[in-house]
Amino acid sequence: MKYKIDLHIHTNFSKDSNISIEDLRKKALLNGINVIAVTDHNTIKGALLAKKKIKEIEVIVGEEILTSEGEIIGLFLHSEIKPFLSAKDTINQIREQGGLVYIPHPFSVFRSALKSNAKKLLIDQFDIIESFNAKSLPYENFVAKRFASQYRKVDAAGSDAHSIEGFGRTYSYVETDLNFCRDNLVKILSQSTIFGRYFFVENIFYKISARFQKKKGVLKCKK
Ligand SMILES: [Zn+2]
Repeated sequence: MKYKIDLHIHTNFSKDSNISIEDLRKKALLNGINVIAVTDHNTIKGALLAKKKIKEIEVIVGEEILTSEGEIIGLFLHSEIKPFLSAKDTINQIREQGGLVYIPHPFSVFRSALKSNAKKLLIDQFDIIESFNAKSLPYENFVAKRFASQYRKVDAAGSDAHSIEGFGRTYSYVETDLNFCRDNLVKILSQSTIFGRYFFVENIFYKISARFQKKKGVLKCKK
């Protein structure tokens, strides 16, 4: 099996994204991305809908949860986890659901990276480290990659897309005999190579424009 995996995507269920589920589906098929994790801010509603609507590829229900010590992504969730808990409590809740713990942009200055103390104390609890985030600076990704290898953690790529233009060119690529499932994901990623394309322009323009359009009621989320 060949997998192109992007584990960090925001749909229009995030305040600062304007990606519709249908656009996500079309672009994934066009670019051959066959495993995606929908990781909206503090909600799994978009991810559940994406899982229901997108049948051609694997959709992982995820959530990018803002903890009191920075952001953590839970993958393979069944119920929503509240924001602003401690990092430890958030991880416990991910585990209680049988989810995986994915640490996004762990060293990014302008994104809500998990604080150093939490990273040190909870390192044993991390399943996957995002060593390429398309919105982070190259140096931040370099440090993330070094951190992952120092602690022998599996690493992966996340587009962190908030607009459809930011999705489709950042992924972990692997050819493997392993079938895709929750229990195999870390193993699959351990054999993968990261393909990353930076998309800084989104930081400045798209997120602001998504917020603005939503305020004006142009881009209401479908319930
Ligand atoms: Zn994100």
